[in-house]
Amino acid sequence: MMMMIAQASICKTRLPSLLSTTCMLQPRLSRQLSTGANDVAARLNSSGFFRTQGLIGGKWVDAYAGKTIEVNNPATGEVIANVACMGTRETNDAISSAYDAFKSWSKFTAAERSKCLRKWYDLIMANKEQLGELITLEQGKPLKEAIGEVSYGASFLEFSAEEAKRVYGDIIPSPLADRRLFVLKQPVGVVGAITPWNFPLAMITRKVGPALAAGCTVVIKPSEFTPLTALAAAELAHQAGVPPGVVNVVMGNAPEIGDALLASTQVRKITFTGSTAVGKKLMAGAAGTVKKVSLELGGNAPCIIFDDADIEVAIKGTLGSKFRNSGQTCVCANRILVQDGIYDKFASALADAVKNLKVGDGFSEGVVQGPLINEAAVQKVETLLQDAVSKGAKVLLGGKRHDLGFTFYEPTIISDINNEMRISREEVFGPVATLLRFKTEDEAISIANDTNAGLAAYFFSSNVQRTWRVAEALEYGIVGVNEGLVSTEVAPFGGVKQSGLGREGSKYGMDEFLEMKYVCMGNMS
Ligand code: NAP
Repeated sequence: MMMMIAQASICKTRLPSLLSTTCMLQPRLSRQLSTGANDVAARLNSSGFFRTQGLIGGKWVDAYAGKTIEVNNPATGEVIANVACMGTRETNDAISSAYDAFKSWSKFTAAERSKCLRKWYDLIMANKEQLGELITLEQGKPLKEAIGEVSYGASFLEFSAEEAKRVYGDIIPSPLADRRLFVLKQPVGVVGAITPWNFPLAMITRKVGPALAAGCTVVIKPSEFTPLTALAAAELAHQAGVPPGVVNVVMGNAPEIGDALLASTQVRKITFTGSTAVGKKLMAGAAGTVKKVSLELGGNAPCIIFDDADIEVAIKGTLGSKFRNSGQTCVCANRILVQDGIYDKFASALADAVKNLKVGDGFSEGVVQGPLINEAAVQKVETLLQDAVSKGAKVLLGGKRHDLGFTFYEPTIISDINNEMRISREEVFGPVATLLRFKTEDEAISIANDTNAGLAAYFFSSNVQRTWRVAEALEYGIVGVNEGLVSTEVAPFGGVKQSGLGREGSKYGMDEFLEMKYVCMGNMS
Protein backbone atom coordinates (compact mmCIF):
# COMPACT_ATOMS: atom_id res chain seq x y z
CA MET A 1 0.00 0.00 0.00
CA MET A 2 2.83 2.38 0.90
CA MET A 3 4.44 1.72 -2.45
CA MET A 4 1.21 2.35 -4.30
CA ILE A 5 0.78 5.74 -2.67
CA ALA A 6 4.41 6.66 -3.35
CA GLN A 7 4.03 5.79 -7.00
CA ALA A 8 0.71 7.52 -7.13
CA SER A 9 2.29 10.76 -5.99
CA ILE A 10 4.74 10.56 -8.89
CA CYS A 11 1.75 10.38 -11.20
CA LYS A 12 0.30 13.54 -9.73
CA THR A 13 3.30 15.75 -9.15
CA ARG A 14 2.36 18.21 -11.91
CA LEU A 15 -1.31 18.54 -11.05
CA PRO A 16 -2.72 21.73 -9.55
CA SER A 17 -2.38 21.94 -5.81
CA LEU A 18 -6.13 22.15 -5.24
CA LEU A 19 -6.43 18.54 -6.33
CA SER A 20 -5.92 15.34 -4.42
CA THR A 21 -2.44 13.87 -4.76
CA THR A 22 -3.35 10.23 -4.71
CA CYS A 23 -3.78 7.83 -7.55
CA MET A 24 -6.36 5.22 -6.57
CA LEU A 25 -9.04 2.95 -7.83
CA GLN A 26 -11.92 5.23 -8.77
CA PRO A 27 -15.20 4.90 -10.59
CA ARG A 28 -14.60 5.53 -14.28
CA LEU A 29 -16.65 8.66 -14.87
CA SER A 30 -16.60 11.91 -13.02
CA ARG A 31 -17.96 12.33 -9.55
CA GLN A 32 -18.16 16.10 -9.26
CA LEU A 33 -19.04 17.53 -12.63
CA SER A 34 -21.41 20.47 -12.97
CA THR A 35 -24.50 19.96 -15.09
CA GLY A 36 -23.10 21.63 -18.22
CA ALA A 37 -19.88 19.66 -18.17
CA ASN A 38 -21.81 16.52 -17.22
CA ASP A 39 -23.97 16.90 -20.32
CA VAL A 40 -20.87 17.17 -22.47
CA ALA A 41 -19.28 14.14 -20.76
CA ALA A 42 -22.49 12.11 -21.13
CA ARG A 43 -22.75 13.00 -24.81
CA LEU A 44 -19.13 12.05 -25.37
CA ASN A 45 -19.61 8.83 -23.43
CA SER A 46 -22.55 7.79 -25.58
CA SER A 47 -20.56 8.52 -28.72
CA GLY A 48 -18.21 5.68 -27.73
CA PHE A 49 -14.98 7.59 -27.68
CA PHE A 50 -14.89 8.77 -24.09
CA ARG A 51 -12.10 6.36 -23.18
CA THR A 52 -10.23 6.20 -19.89
CA GLN A 53 -8.05 3.09 -20.30
CA GLY A 54 -4.79 2.80 -22.19
CA LEU A 55 -4.65 1.13 -25.59
CA ILE A 56 -2.18 -1.73 -25.93
CA GLY A 57 -2.18 -4.14 -28.85
CA GLY A 58 -5.72 -3.14 -29.85
CA LYS A 59 -7.14 -3.74 -26.35
CA TRP A 60 -8.33 -1.09 -23.89
CA VAL A 61 -6.61 -1.88 -20.62
CA ASP A 62 -6.40 -0.57 -17.06
CA ALA A 63 -3.09 0.21 -15.41
CA TYR A 64 -1.76 -3.15 -14.20
CA ALA A 65 -1.73 -2.04 -10.56
CA GLY A 66 -5.20 -0.53 -10.97
CA LYS A 67 -3.95 3.01 -10.43
CA THR A 68 -5.78 5.95 -11.95
CA ILE A 69 -5.12 9.62 -12.35
CA GLU A 70 -7.61 12.47 -12.34
CA VAL A 71 -8.22 14.61 -15.38
CA ASN A 72 -9.59 18.04 -14.54
CA ASN A 73 -11.49 20.79 -16.25
CA PRO A 74 -9.15 23.79 -15.84
CA ALA A 75 -12.08 26.22 -16.04
CA THR A 76 -13.74 24.80 -12.92
CA GLY A 77 -11.25 22.50 -11.23
CA GLU A 78 -13.80 19.69 -11.55
CA VAL A 79 -12.80 16.09 -12.11
CA ILE A 80 -13.79 15.00 -15.60
CA ALA A 81 -12.57 11.41 -15.42
CA ASN A 82 -10.06 9.07 -13.85
CA VAL A 83 -7.78 7.53 -16.43
CA ALA A 84 -5.32 4.65 -16.15
CA CYS A 85 -2.03 5.73 -14.57
CA MET A 86 0.52 3.59 -16.38
CA GLY A 87 4.27 3.13 -16.15
CA THR A 88 7.14 0.85 -17.15
CA ARG A 89 5.33 -2.48 -17.53
CA GLU A 90 2.46 -1.16 -19.62
CA THR A 91 4.90 0.79 -21.81
CA ASN A 92 7.04 -2.29 -22.42
CA ASP A 93 3.93 -4.22 -23.49
CA ALA A 94 2.86 -1.37 -25.76
CA ILE A 95 6.33 -1.39 -27.34
CA SER A 96 6.12 -5.18 -27.91
CA SER A 97 2.70 -4.78 -29.52
CA ALA A 98 3.97 -2.00 -31.76
CA TYR A 99 7.02 -4.10 -32.65
CA ASP A 100 4.87 -7.10 -33.63
CA ALA A 101 2.42 -4.94 -35.57
CA PHE A 102 5.27 -3.28 -37.46
CA LYS A 103 6.03 -6.55 -39.21
CA SER A 104 2.68 -6.50 -41.03
CA TRP A 105 1.86 -2.74 -41.12
CA SER A 106 5.15 -1.95 -42.84
CA LYS A 107 4.22 -4.51 -45.50
CA PHE A 108 0.82 -2.95 -46.22
CA THR A 109 0.84 -1.22 -49.58
CA ALA A 110 1.04 2.55 -49.50
CA ALA A 111 -2.51 2.64 -50.89
CA GLU A 112 -3.79 0.48 -48.02
CA ARG A 113 -2.12 2.65 -45.40
CA SER A 114 -3.45 5.72 -47.15
CA LYS A 115 -7.02 4.40 -47.00
CA CYS A 116 -6.78 3.79 -43.24
CA LEU A 117 -5.46 7.30 -42.66
CA ARG A 118 -8.12 8.83 -44.87
CA LYS A 119 -10.84 6.93 -42.99
CA TRP A 120 -9.38 8.13 -39.70
CA TYR A 121 -9.43 11.70 -41.02
CA ASP A 122 -13.07 11.29 -42.12
CA LEU A 123 -14.12 9.97 -38.70
CA ILE A 124 -12.38 12.81 -36.88
CA MET A 125 -14.04 15.38 -39.12
CA ALA A 126 -17.42 13.66 -38.72
CA ASN A 127 -17.01 14.04 -34.93
CA LYS A 128 -15.45 17.48 -35.07
CA GLU A 129 -17.83 19.20 -32.64
CA GLN A 130 -17.66 16.46 -30.02
CA LEU A 131 -13.90 16.23 -30.16
CA GLY A 132 -13.79 20.02 -29.86
CA GLU A 133 -15.95 19.78 -26.75
CA LEU A 134 -13.58 17.22 -25.29
CA ILE A 135 -10.61 19.50 -25.93
CA THR A 136 -12.38 22.44 -24.26
CA LEU A 137 -13.36 20.24 -21.33
CA GLU A 138 -9.86 19.02 -20.49
CA GLN A 139 -7.67 21.79 -21.91
CA GLY A 140 -9.83 24.88 -21.48
CA LYS A 141 -9.47 26.64 -24.84
CA PRO A 142 -12.65 28.27 -26.22
CA LEU A 143 -14.88 25.83 -28.09
CA LYS A 144 -14.50 27.60 -31.44
CA GLU A 145 -10.73 27.42 -31.10
CA ALA A 146 -10.95 23.78 -30.01
CA ILE A 147 -13.03 22.85 -33.06
CA GLY A 148 -10.45 24.73 -35.13
CA GLU A 149 -7.77 22.52 -33.57
CA VAL A 150 -9.73 19.42 -34.61
CA SER A 151 -9.76 20.55 -38.25
CA TYR A 152 -6.11 21.53 -38.05
CA GLY A 153 -5.17 18.25 -36.36
CA ALA A 154 -7.17 16.19 -38.86
CA SER A 155 -5.47 17.98 -41.76
CA PHE A 156 -2.21 16.18 -40.89
CA LEU A 157 -3.95 12.83 -41.33
CA GLU A 158 -5.44 13.86 -44.67
CA PHE A 159 -2.10 15.20 -45.88
CA SER A 160 -0.26 12.07 -44.67
CA ALA A 161 -2.82 9.84 -46.41
CA GLU A 162 -1.89 11.61 -49.63
CA GLU A 163 1.87 11.62 -48.97
CA ALA A 164 1.87 7.89 -48.15
CA LYS A 165 1.62 7.28 -51.90
CA ARG A 166 4.58 9.50 -52.71
CA VAL A 167 7.44 7.89 -50.79
CA TYR A 168 9.75 7.65 -53.76
CA GLY A 169 13.21 6.13 -53.83
CA ASP A 170 15.98 6.95 -56.27
CA ILE A 171 18.10 5.35 -58.99
CA ILE A 172 21.69 6.56 -59.11
CA PRO A 173 23.73 6.44 -62.37
CA SER A 174 26.43 3.87 -61.64
CA PRO A 175 30.12 4.65 -62.11
CA LEU A 176 30.63 0.96 -63.12
CA ALA A 177 28.94 -0.68 -66.12
CA ASP A 178 27.98 -3.91 -64.33
CA ARG A 179 26.35 -2.27 -61.33
CA ARG A 180 22.95 -0.77 -60.57
CA LEU A 181 22.54 1.56 -57.61
CA PHE A 182 19.27 2.32 -55.80
CA VAL A 183 18.03 4.21 -52.81
CA LEU A 184 15.03 2.69 -51.03
CA LYS A 185 13.03 4.62 -48.44
CA GLN A 186 11.83 2.39 -45.61
CA PRO A 187 9.98 3.01 -42.34
CA VAL A 188 12.16 3.67 -39.30
CA GLY A 189 10.30 1.14 -37.10
CA VAL A 190 8.57 1.61 -33.76
CA VAL A 191 8.16 5.27 -32.79
CA GLY A 192 7.68 6.70 -29.30
CA ALA A 193 5.58 9.88 -29.60
CA ILE A 194 5.45 12.13 -26.52
CA THR A 195 3.11 15.11 -26.69
CA PRO A 196 2.11 18.17 -24.61
CA TRP A 197 -1.26 19.44 -23.36
CA ASN A 198 -1.60 22.69 -25.32
CA PHE A 199 -2.78 21.03 -28.55
CA PRO A 200 -4.09 17.68 -27.29
CA LEU A 201 -5.06 16.44 -30.75
CA ALA A 202 -2.91 18.26 -33.29
CA MET A 203 0.43 17.49 -31.64
CA ILE A 204 -0.47 13.79 -31.91
CA THR A 205 -1.74 13.73 -35.49
CA ARG A 206 1.22 15.85 -36.67
CA LYS A 207 3.46 12.94 -35.58
CA VAL A 208 1.29 9.87 -35.97
CA GLY A 209 -0.03 10.79 -39.45
CA PRO A 210 3.36 10.76 -41.19
CA ALA A 211 4.63 7.89 -38.99
CA LEU A 212 1.78 5.61 -40.07
CA ALA A 213 1.99 6.81 -43.67
CA ALA A 214 5.65 5.81 -43.75
CA GLY A 215 4.83 2.34 -42.35
CA CYS A 216 5.90 2.90 -38.72
CA THR A 217 3.91 1.87 -35.67
CA VAL A 218 3.60 4.10 -32.59
CA VAL A 219 3.41 4.22 -28.83
CA ILE A 220 1.81 7.56 -27.93
CA LYS A 221 2.29 9.18 -24.54
CA PRO A 222 -0.08 12.15 -24.20
CA SER A 223 0.19 14.67 -21.39
CA GLU A 224 -1.40 13.62 -18.11
CA PHE A 225 -3.44 16.85 -18.29
CA THR A 226 -5.12 16.03 -21.61
CA PRO A 227 -5.19 12.26 -22.21
CA LEU A 228 -8.91 12.05 -23.10
CA THR A 229 -8.52 13.65 -26.53
CA ALA A 230 -5.63 11.30 -27.33
CA LEU A 231 -7.68 8.28 -26.26
CA ALA A 232 -10.67 9.46 -28.31
CA ALA A 233 -8.43 9.88 -31.35
CA ALA A 234 -7.04 6.38 -30.81
CA GLU A 235 -10.56 4.95 -30.59
CA LEU A 236 -11.39 6.60 -33.92
CA ALA A 237 -8.19 5.16 -35.43
CA HIS A 238 -9.39 1.74 -34.31
CA GLN A 239 -12.83 2.39 -35.87
CA ALA A 240 -11.07 3.50 -39.06
CA GLY A 241 -9.51 0.04 -39.38
CA VAL A 242 -5.98 0.83 -38.21
CA PRO A 243 -4.88 -2.69 -37.15
CA PRO A 244 -4.28 -3.63 -33.49
CA GLY A 245 -0.85 -2.65 -32.21
CA VAL A 246 -0.22 -0.01 -34.86
CA VAL A 247 -1.40 2.77 -32.53
CA ASN A 248 -0.88 2.28 -28.78
CA VAL A 249 -1.50 4.83 -26.02
CA VAL A 250 -0.02 4.80 -22.51
CA MET A 251 -0.20 7.64 -20.01
CA GLY A 252 0.52 8.34 -16.36
CA ASN A 253 4.02 8.26 -14.93
CA ALA A 254 5.94 10.34 -17.49
CA PRO A 255 9.53 9.56 -16.40
CA GLU A 256 8.80 5.81 -16.25
CA ILE A 257 7.14 5.80 -19.67
CA GLY A 258 9.89 7.99 -21.13
CA ASP A 259 12.64 5.81 -19.69
CA ALA A 260 11.03 2.62 -21.01
CA LEU A 261 10.77 4.11 -24.50
CA LEU A 262 14.39 5.29 -24.35
CA ALA A 263 15.77 2.01 -23.02
CA SER A 264 14.08 -0.22 -25.57
CA THR A 265 16.14 -1.33 -28.55
CA GLN A 266 12.84 -2.01 -30.35
CA VAL A 267 11.96 1.69 -30.34
CA ARG A 268 13.89 3.26 -33.21
CA LYS A 269 12.70 6.83 -32.96
CA ILE A 270 11.53 9.33 -30.36
CA THR A 271 9.42 12.22 -31.56
CA PHE A 272 8.72 14.76 -28.84
CA THR A 273 6.84 18.02 -28.50
CA GLY A 274 7.18 19.84 -25.23
CA SER A 275 9.52 21.87 -23.09
CA THR A 276 13.16 22.35 -23.96
CA ALA A 277 14.21 20.93 -20.58
CA VAL A 278 12.44 17.60 -21.11
CA GLY A 279 13.54 17.54 -24.78
CA LYS A 280 17.18 17.75 -23.71
CA LYS A 281 16.71 14.85 -21.29
CA LEU A 282 15.13 12.72 -23.99
CA MET A 283 17.86 13.58 -26.48
CA ALA A 284 20.53 12.55 -23.96
CA GLY A 285 18.60 9.37 -23.11
CA ALA A 286 18.21 8.41 -26.75
CA ALA A 287 21.99 8.28 -27.12
CA GLY A 288 22.09 4.99 -25.18
CA THR A 289 20.47 3.11 -28.05
CA VAL A 290 21.30 5.65 -30.80
CA LYS A 291 17.71 6.39 -31.73
CA LYS A 292 16.60 8.95 -34.22
CA VAL A 293 15.18 12.00 -32.43
CA SER A 294 12.83 14.78 -33.54
CA LEU A 295 12.23 17.59 -31.08
CA GLU A 296 9.62 20.36 -31.21
CA LEU A 297 10.57 22.44 -28.18
CA GLY A 298 9.90 25.80 -26.61
CA GLY A 299 10.09 29.13 -28.40
CA ASN A 300 10.70 32.77 -27.53
CA ALA A 301 9.12 34.43 -30.52
CA PRO A 302 9.91 38.04 -31.30
CA CYS A 303 7.16 40.02 -33.01
CA ILE A 304 8.65 43.14 -34.58
CA ILE A 305 6.48 46.12 -35.51
CA PHE A 306 8.35 48.51 -37.80
CA ASP A 307 7.38 52.17 -38.25
CA ASP A 308 6.24 51.39 -41.79
CA ALA A 309 3.81 48.62 -40.70
CA ASP A 310 0.11 48.77 -41.50
CA ILE A 311 -1.09 49.19 -37.93
CA GLU A 312 -4.38 47.32 -38.41
CA VAL A 313 -2.57 44.35 -39.92
CA ALA A 314 0.01 44.47 -37.13
CA ILE A 315 -2.63 44.55 -34.36
CA LYS A 316 -4.58 41.68 -35.91
CA GLY A 317 -1.43 39.61 -36.39
CA THR A 318 -0.09 40.36 -32.90
CA LEU A 319 -3.40 39.48 -31.25
CA GLY A 320 -3.59 36.19 -33.18
CA SER A 321 -0.07 35.22 -32.34
CA LYS A 322 0.00 36.41 -28.72
CA PHE A 323 -3.43 35.57 -27.33
CA ARG A 324 -4.37 32.35 -29.12
CA ASN A 325 -4.91 29.56 -26.58
CA SER A 326 -4.52 32.26 -23.87
CA GLY A 327 -0.88 32.65 -24.81
CA GLN A 328 -0.12 28.96 -24.37
CA THR A 329 1.46 28.05 -27.69
CA CYS A 330 5.11 27.50 -28.56
CA VAL A 331 4.80 30.04 -31.39
CA CYS A 332 3.11 32.76 -29.29
CA ALA A 333 4.74 36.18 -29.61
CA ASN A 334 6.83 36.33 -26.43
CA ARG A 335 8.48 39.71 -27.03
CA ILE A 336 6.79 42.47 -28.99
CA LEU A 337 9.47 44.81 -30.33
CA VAL A 338 7.99 48.15 -31.44
CA GLN A 339 9.90 50.85 -33.32
CA ASP A 340 10.12 54.28 -31.69
CA GLY A 341 7.99 56.15 -34.24
CA ILE A 342 4.95 53.87 -33.94
CA TYR A 343 5.36 52.74 -30.31
CA ASP A 344 2.73 54.92 -28.59
CA LYS A 345 0.16 54.50 -31.36
CA PHE A 346 0.65 50.73 -31.41
CA ALA A 347 0.54 50.38 -27.60
CA SER A 348 -2.70 52.31 -27.39
CA ALA A 349 -4.34 50.40 -30.31
CA LEU A 350 -3.23 47.08 -28.80
CA ALA A 351 -4.70 48.04 -25.41
CA ASP A 352 -8.02 48.94 -27.10
CA ALA A 353 -8.11 45.55 -28.80
CA VAL A 354 -6.97 43.50 -25.79
CA LYS A 355 -9.45 45.00 -23.34
CA ASN A 356 -12.24 43.62 -25.53
CA LEU A 357 -11.03 40.02 -25.27
CA LYS A 358 -13.72 38.15 -23.36
CA VAL A 359 -12.39 35.82 -20.66
CA GLY A 360 -14.33 32.82 -19.38
CA ASP A 361 -15.24 29.17 -19.56
CA GLY A 362 -14.52 27.98 -23.10
CA PHE A 363 -18.10 26.75 -23.45
CA SER A 364 -19.58 30.25 -22.94
CA GLU A 365 -20.65 32.27 -25.95
CA GLY A 366 -18.19 34.92 -27.12
CA VAL A 367 -15.31 33.78 -24.88
CA VAL A 368 -11.93 34.04 -26.61
CA GLN A 369 -9.65 33.60 -23.55
CA GLY A 370 -9.98 30.43 -21.50
CA PRO A 371 -8.16 29.53 -18.28
CA LEU A 372 -4.49 28.61 -18.05
CA ILE A 373 -3.84 24.89 -17.81
CA ASN A 374 -3.11 24.81 -14.07
CA GLU A 375 -2.04 26.70 -10.96
CA ALA A 376 1.66 26.27 -11.73
CA ALA A 377 1.14 28.03 -15.07
CA VAL A 378 -0.50 31.01 -13.34
CA GLN A 379 2.27 31.17 -10.76
CA LYS A 380 4.88 31.23 -13.52
CA VAL A 381 3.14 34.19 -15.18
CA GLU A 382 2.93 35.99 -11.82
CA THR A 383 6.61 35.40 -11.07
CA LEU A 384 7.80 36.65 -14.46
CA LEU A 385 5.53 39.70 -14.27
CA GLN A 386 6.67 40.60 -10.74
CA ASP A 387 10.30 40.27 -11.79
CA ALA A 388 9.74 42.59 -14.79
CA VAL A 389 7.85 45.18 -12.74
CA SER A 390 10.57 45.16 -10.07
CA LYS A 391 13.04 46.02 -12.84
CA GLY A 392 11.06 48.94 -14.26
CA ALA A 393 8.33 47.45 -16.47
CA LYS A 394 4.93 49.20 -16.40
CA VAL A 395 1.56 47.45 -16.46
CA LEU A 396 -0.63 49.08 -19.14
CA LEU A 397 -3.54 46.63 -18.87
CA GLY A 398 -4.48 43.69 -16.66
CA GLY A 399 -1.60 42.32 -14.65
CA LYS A 400 -3.35 40.02 -12.20
CA ARG A 401 -5.52 36.95 -11.76
CA HIS A 402 -9.00 37.33 -13.22
CA ASP A 403 -12.02 37.79 -10.94
CA LEU A 404 -13.34 34.47 -12.26
CA GLY A 405 -10.80 32.74 -10.00
CA PHE A 406 -9.33 29.29 -10.67
CA THR A 407 -6.60 29.66 -13.28
CA PHE A 408 -8.08 32.58 -15.20
CA TYR A 409 -5.65 35.44 -15.79
CA GLU A 410 -6.41 38.90 -17.14
CA PRO A 411 -5.23 39.63 -20.69
CA THR A 412 -2.27 41.85 -19.91
CA ILE A 413 0.04 44.35 -21.60
CA ILE A 414 3.29 45.53 -20.03
CA SER A 415 5.67 48.12 -21.46
CA ASP A 416 9.25 49.24 -20.82
CA ILE A 417 10.57 45.70 -21.13
CA ASN A 418 14.19 45.02 -21.94
CA ASN A 419 15.75 41.86 -23.30
CA GLU A 420 17.60 41.04 -20.07
CA MET A 421 14.45 40.59 -17.98
CA ARG A 422 13.40 37.01 -17.24
CA ILE A 423 10.11 37.67 -19.04
CA SER A 424 12.09 38.23 -22.26
CA ARG A 425 14.30 35.19 -21.82
CA GLU A 426 11.72 32.58 -20.81
CA GLU A 427 8.43 31.53 -22.37
CA VAL A 428 5.63 33.41 -20.59
CA PHE A 429 3.04 30.84 -21.72
CA GLY A 430 0.20 33.09 -20.66
CA PRO A 431 -1.84 36.09 -21.89
CA VAL A 432 0.84 38.70 -21.29
CA ALA A 433 2.00 40.96 -24.14
CA THR A 434 5.38 42.55 -23.40
CA LEU A 435 6.43 45.68 -25.31
CA LEU A 436 10.11 46.51 -26.01
CA ARG A 437 11.07 49.76 -27.73
CA PHE A 438 13.76 49.85 -30.46
CA LYS A 439 15.19 52.46 -32.84
CA THR A 440 16.82 50.75 -35.85
CA GLU A 441 16.30 47.62 -37.93
CA ASP A 442 19.73 46.30 -36.94
CA GLU A 443 18.91 46.78 -33.27
CA ALA A 444 15.59 44.89 -33.69
CA ILE A 445 17.30 41.96 -35.41
CA SER A 446 20.00 41.84 -32.79
CA ILE A 447 17.44 41.78 -29.93
CA ALA A 448 15.27 39.25 -31.76
CA ASN A 449 18.17 36.84 -32.29
CA ASP A 450 19.59 37.26 -28.78
CA THR A 451 18.01 34.07 -27.40
CA ASN A 452 18.72 30.34 -27.37
CA ALA A 453 15.32 29.70 -28.91
CA GLY A 454 14.64 29.74 -32.64
CA LEU A 455 11.13 28.50 -33.38
CA ALA A 456 8.88 31.26 -34.77
CA ALA A 457 9.38 34.98 -35.38
CA TYR A 458 7.04 37.61 -36.80
CA PHE A 459 7.44 41.04 -38.22
CA PHE A 460 5.20 43.69 -39.70
CA SER A 461 6.39 46.04 -42.42
CA SER A 462 5.15 47.42 -45.72
CA ASN A 463 8.62 47.83 -47.18
CA VAL A 464 9.35 45.08 -49.74
CA GLN A 465 13.15 45.25 -49.46
CA ARG A 466 12.93 45.13 -45.69
CA THR A 467 10.65 42.08 -45.72
CA TRP A 468 13.31 40.06 -47.58
CA ARG A 469 16.20 41.44 -45.54
CA VAL A 470 14.62 40.78 -42.16
CA ALA A 471 13.16 37.37 -43.10
CA GLU A 472 16.66 36.26 -44.06
CA ALA A 473 18.32 37.73 -40.97
CA LEU A 474 16.04 36.18 -38.35
CA GLU A 475 17.52 33.00 -36.85
CA TYR A 476 14.24 31.10 -36.68
CA GLY A 477 12.70 28.04 -38.31
CA ILE A 478 9.44 29.87 -39.10
CA VAL A 479 8.95 33.53 -40.00
CA GLY A 480 5.56 35.22 -40.31
CA VAL A 481 5.63 38.41 -42.38
CA ASN A 482 2.54 40.57 -41.85
CA GLU A 483 0.84 37.43 -40.50
CA GLY A 484 0.47 36.03 -36.98
CA LEU A 485 -1.01 32.60 -37.75
CA VAL A 486 1.44 30.60 -39.83
CA SER A 487 0.93 26.93 -39.06
CA THR A 488 -0.48 24.63 -41.76
CA GLU A 489 -0.13 20.97 -42.64
CA VAL A 490 1.45 21.78 -46.00
CA ALA A 491 4.45 23.72 -44.64
CA PRO A 492 7.40 22.52 -42.52
CA PHE A 493 7.01 23.38 -38.84
CA GLY A 494 10.04 23.34 -36.53
CA GLY A 495 12.80 25.29 -34.90
CA VAL A 496 16.51 25.98 -34.99
CA LYS A 497 18.94 26.44 -32.07
CA GLN A 498 17.48 25.02 -28.84
CA SER A 499 13.92 25.01 -30.21
CA GLY A 500 14.45 21.61 -31.71
CA LEU A 501 15.46 19.21 -34.42
CA GLY A 502 13.53 18.12 -37.48
CA ARG A 503 10.32 19.33 -39.08
CA GLU A 504 6.68 18.31 -38.83
CA GLY A 505 4.04 18.62 -41.54
CA SER A 506 4.59 19.00 -45.29
CA LYS A 507 6.51 16.58 -47.52
CA TYR A 508 9.58 17.17 -45.32
CA GLY A 509 7.79 15.81 -42.25
CA MET A 510 7.68 12.35 -43.84
CA ASP A 511 11.48 12.11 -43.91
CA GLU A 512 11.55 12.04 -40.10
CA PHE A 513 10.00 8.56 -40.20
CA LEU A 514 11.97 7.10 -43.09
CA GLU A 515 15.39 5.48 -43.38
CA MET A 516 17.36 5.57 -46.60
CA LYS A 517 18.74 2.24 -47.75
CA TYR A 518 21.40 2.16 -50.47
CA VAL A 519 21.28 -1.00 -52.58
CA CYS A 520 24.20 -1.88 -54.85
CA MET A 521 23.54 -4.67 -57.37
CA GLY A 522 26.61 -6.23 -58.97
CA ASN A 523 27.13 -8.62 -61.88
CA MET A 524 24.44 -6.82 -63.90
CA SER A 525 26.07 -6.67 -67.34
P1 NAP B 1 6.55 19.22 -20.95
O1 NAP B 1 6.42 19.42 -19.51
O2 NAP B 1 7.91 19.08 -21.51
O3 NAP B 1 5.68 17.92 -21.29
C1 NAP B 1 5.57 17.43 -22.61
C2 NAP B 1 5.34 15.94 -22.55
O4 NAP B 1 6.50 15.32 -22.00
C3 NAP B 1 4.17 15.55 -21.66
O5 NAP B 1 3.52 14.42 -22.21
C4 NAP B 1 4.88 15.18 -20.37
O6 NAP B 1 4.13 14.27 -19.60
C5 NAP B 1 6.10 14.49 -20.92
N1 NAP B 1 7.22 14.37 -19.99
C6 NAP B 1 7.55 15.14 -18.94
N2 NAP B 1 8.67 14.66 -18.35
C7 NAP B 1 9.04 13.55 -19.04
C8 NAP B 1 10.10 12.60 -18.93
N3 NAP B 1 11.01 12.69 -17.97
N4 NAP B 1 10.15 11.60 -19.83
C9 NAP B 1 9.23 11.49 -20.79
N5 NAP B 1 8.21 12.35 -20.95
C10 NAP B 1 8.12 13.37 -20.09
O7 NAP B 1 5.83 20.36 -21.78
P2 NAP B 1 4.35 20.89 -21.61
O8 NAP B 1 4.29 21.76 -20.41
O9 NAP B 1 3.38 19.76 -21.70
O10 NAP B 1 4.17 21.73 -22.94
C11 NAP B 1 4.57 23.06 -23.06
C12 NAP B 1 5.89 23.15 -23.79
O11 NAP B 1 5.76 22.53 -25.06
C13 NAP B 1 6.28 24.58 -24.07
O12 NAP B 1 7.66 24.74 -23.83
C14 NAP B 1 5.97 24.74 -25.54
O13 NAP B 1 6.71 25.76 -26.17
C15 NAP B 1 6.30 23.39 -26.06
N6 NAP B 1 5.62 23.14 -27.34
C16 NAP B 1 6.39 23.12 -28.47
C17 NAP B 1 5.78 22.93 -29.71
C18 NAP B 1 6.59 22.92 -30.97
O14 NAP B 1 6.05 22.51 -31.99
N7 NAP B 1 7.85 23.32 -30.96
C19 NAP B 1 4.38 22.76 -29.78
C20 NAP B 1 3.65 22.79 -28.60
C21 NAP B 1 4.28 22.97 -27.38
P3 NAP B 1 3.13 14.75 -18.46
O15 NAP B 1 2.38 15.96 -18.96
O16 NAP B 1 2.24 13.58 -18.30
O17 NAP B 1 3.96 15.05 -17.28
